[in-house]
Amino acid sequence: MKGDRSPSELEALWKEDDMVCGEKVRAMVVIMRTNGCCWVKHGGCTMCGYREASLMNVTEGDLLKQLEQALSRHKGEPFVKIYTSGSFLDDNEVPPQVRAKYFEAFKDCKRILFESRPEFITPEVVSTLPKTVTVALGLESSDPDVLETSVHKGFTPADIKRAGELLKSNGLGVRTYLLLKPPFMTERMAIRDAVESARFADPFSDEISVNPLNVQRATYVERLWKRGEFRSPWIWSLIEVFRQLSGTVNARLMSSPSGGGAQRGVHNCGECDQRALDAVEKFSYSQDVKDLDVTCSCVPKWQAYMESEAILGSPSDLERDFENELVLRM
Ligand code: SF4
Ligand SMILES: [Zn+2]
Repeated sequence: MKGDRSPSELEALWKEDDMVCGEKVRAMVVIMRTNGCCWVKHGGCTMCGYREASLMNVTEGDLLKQLEQALSRHKGEPFVKIYTSGSFLDDNEVPPQVRAKYFEAFKDCKRILFESRPEFITPEVVSTLPKTVTVALGLESSDPDVLETSVHKGFTPADIKRAGELLKSNGLGVRTYLLLKPPFMTERMAIRDAVESARFADPFSDEISVNPLNVQRATYVERLWKRGEFRSPWIWSLIEVFRQLSGTVNARLMSSPSGGGAQRGVHNCGECDQRALDAVEKFSYSQDVKDLDVTCSCVPKWQAYMESEAILGSPSDLERDFENELVLRM
């Protein structure tokens, strides 16, 4: 698969809606091909499938050709999001001189967003960033034990806080990602963890994006999922997180779940998934808790699921356990 992919071509590019200064606008999303996340060499994060996306020996010339492709597709969208399979501020992925060319190319945009691990966010690097930049920080959880043992993130919540405060004090934007339901957590634990993590991130975040865990290929989480030891979170849990946070944080709350409605992604009963996801999208723009007023006959099932998990003390996929049990009895 990797052999078919040219290092001088973008991995993907599409357009979608997002926000700039409180206004809904079109955004261009650019997925670059780079040498990949430095943390993958240390095993990577338990839910991350990016090792599949990275290549080796992507050169400066390749990255500049990717920029040309991105520019040829840019039709004046005021917001450009540039994702690598790691950190845009890692010199081994994107050298500083290449970064400068990307910034120059999109200097007329109102907002540029990219992701970075906190170790690359130093005062020296921050001083080179245009004021239109928002850095997305993958905090995932504010619980140090969850970060270390469940996510295997390789940094602490304090590292993210330092990076976020540095960016804010330099007038830059911060979008913080939280992971809803890291492995080994019940739904209830996951809701509580996301709510507490959002409160931790709020002082240094303009936006908090709650990302429900989506089971990616060739990951540790996929192994757990295949063995029935992990169920992706319910959409009701995501909605519950927003309900508890609404009106109590300053940051904009948002979520655009990948794989929503599928077994690997955040899902409910199947019948109500699209309605519930539409409600989440609407809320992400309006911040109006009334937009989350959606229901289904599976709400009691979600509540019973959480009760059962608490009684059994197990985060394994009880729906699947139950179905297997029925099959065995038949
Ligand atoms: S989640 Fe981010 S930090 Fe973790 S392995 Fe993937 S790209 Fe690297
Ligand atoms: Zn339902």
